[in-house]
Amino acid sequence: MKKITFLLIALTLINCKKEIKKTNGKLNVVTTTSMITDLVNNIGGDVINIQGLMGSGVDPHLYKASEGDVSKLVNADIIFYNGVHLEGKLVDIFEKMGHQNNKTIAISEALDKNTLISSALFQGNYDPHIWFDITIWEKATSFIVLKLSEAVPEHKTVFETNGEKYLKSLKALKAKITATIQTLPKEKRILVTAHDAFSYFGRAFGFEVVGLQGLSTATEAGVKDVQKLAEFIIQKNVKAIFVESSVPIRTIEALKASVNSKGHDVQIGGTLYSDALGNAGTIESTYIGMFEYNVRTIVGALK
Ligand code: ZN
Repeated sequence: MKKITFLLIALTLINCKKEIKKTNGKLNVVTTTSMITDLVNNIGGDVINIQGLMGSGVDPHLYKASEGDVSKLVNADIIFYNGVHLEGKLVDIFEKMGHQNNKTIAISEALDKNTLISSALFQGNYDPHIWFDITIWEKATSFIVLKLSEAVPEHKTVFETNGEKYLKSLKALKAKITATIQTLPKEKRILVTAHDAFSYFGRAFGFEVVGLQGLSTATEAGVKDVQKLAEFIIQKNVKAIFVESSVPIRTIEALKASVNSKGHDVQIGGTLYSDALGNAGTIESTYIGMFEYNVRTIVGALK
């Protein structure tokens, strides 16, 4: 109750604040997931202040704003978030703030709905794991360049130059990943993970993708889901299944146990970074490093 009251007071404060209020002459940008933080950081560089709300290992589906977050949001000039219901518990705050002063920007706003994967379970909803389609992330790059340039026109050239450079890195990433995946025979391209985070990846790189939990980790997998997926793994002769860094390991362990109980073997192929990047200082702490790491792990374990 105390938290709700605090949020309401904070939102009233936001309502009063419509001017861009830079700190040391720099735009204050707040981002949600670590993928978005990394992208905006690459574009904004030294000319913006950036604060990411969600660190490594944090599940955005379940993430709730802390009081510290609310003060960051109140002081932000721009807030970039994923949208399409990824940040399930923050979305009400963002939408309310967005209507008040247009400072909250969903990356998904930049995308043509035809490029989004529809949710089979919720009509009119889309799969929010858009960062796993590099083509979509290229669009997100251009969108952020545009939005930052609108906010700080004097740094337009900086944002554009950084954006161009990042787009080149994304293109190189795509080529590298495609080459790695081509070493994996088509019939082995079956990716079983803790939740449905990899459908965009599957669409882009020709994998059949199955998540034990659905599009959001908010729904737990039941015994029936585990058994059904265990049978699928046996039938398709899948060699390895994968843990995700932002989802408890027990779901995948239960799946492995179920496959084993039916007299078959399946390996845990490693931990993938799905809804959050890796720890600071590791290769997986950047979007590009995360993508390369995931693909190496997937291909290595399924070969
Ligand atoms: Zn997810």
